[in-house]
Amino acid sequence: MLMAAVVAFNVSTSVTAADGFFMTAPDPIVICLDPGHGGSADGAKYEHNGTMIYEKDLNWTIACYLKDELLTYQNVEIIMVRDGDVDIENQERADYAAENGADYYISIHNNAKDKNADTTRGCMVLCPVGRFQYSTDICPNIYDSTDFLAKCVMDNLCALGLGVGDDFPGLNEGGIVRRPYSPDGGAKQTREYPDGTVADYYSQIRFTEEYGIPAIVIEHAYISNDDDYDEYLSSDEKLKTLAMADAEAIAKAFHLVKN
Ligand SMILES: [Zn+2]
Repeated sequence: MLMAAVVAFNVSTSVTAADGFFMTAPDPIVICLDPGHGGSADGAKYEHNGTMIYEKDLNWTIACYLKDELLTYQNVEIIMVRDGDVDIENQERADYAAENGADYYISIHNNAKDKNADTTRGCMVLCPVGRFQYSTDICPNIYDSTDFLAKCVMDNLCALGLGVGDDFPGLNEGGIVRRPYSPDGGAKQTREYPDGTVADYYSQIRFTEEYGIPAIVIEHAYISNDDDYDEYLSSDEKLKTLAMADAEAIAKAFHLVKN
C-alpha cells in the first residue's frame, strides 16, 4: 500500500526519460549540491572594501539558500557534499554523491580573473564536453539534460541583469562552457574516455560522469570584478537572490511542484 501511495503521489512531479533526464522517475529526486572549495581551499579570493572575500564562503551561502528553497518543492531530497568549512577533494565529492544515491550533481562556484583583467564579468555554466557516458542507469542522455538545465540556469541568472561570461572563447556558447582536458604540458597528457573522445577538463564533471551522474558547475559571477561583486555577491541577500534564481531554473528543468 505504501508503494502504491508513493507512486500516485509522484505523478504530478515526475521527471521522466521522455525529458531526457532519467531512466526512471526518481522518488524522491536526490539533488547533490556541491558548494565549491572549502577548508584550506579558498577558491578565488579578492579584497573588496578592505575585506578579503573568499569564494568558498560565497559558494557555501548560495548553496545553503539553494538547499532551503529546493526543499520547498515536492519529492526533493538534498544532500550536500560538505558540511561547513572543510577540505574535500573533488573525487571524494563525487564518491559521496554516488554513495548517497544522487540523481543529479550541481556544483556552486564563482569565477575569478586576474585583477588586471577585471573587466571580465558575468555568469556561465560548465557542462559535459561530449556525449560519452559510462552508464545510462541514472540518466539516458546526460549531454542533453545538462544542456537544458544549464540554459534554464543561464536564462534566470541573466534575467537578474548578470551578463553572459565571455571567458574561454571557442569553448563558450552563450555562457555554456564545454572544456576538454588539455593540461599545460601538452597533448600527451590529454585524458580520454573509453570511446576515445577527449575527457572533461573539470573534475567535478569527469568524476561524476564515471558514476553516470549528470553534473553542471554554475559559475555565478566574477568575484574579481568590482561591479559583479557589488551588484550580486556583496551581501547575503544578494547571494540569496542568486540561489532563488538557480532554484527556479532547477524546478523548471525537473518539473518540480511546490509543496
Ligand atoms: Zn570555484
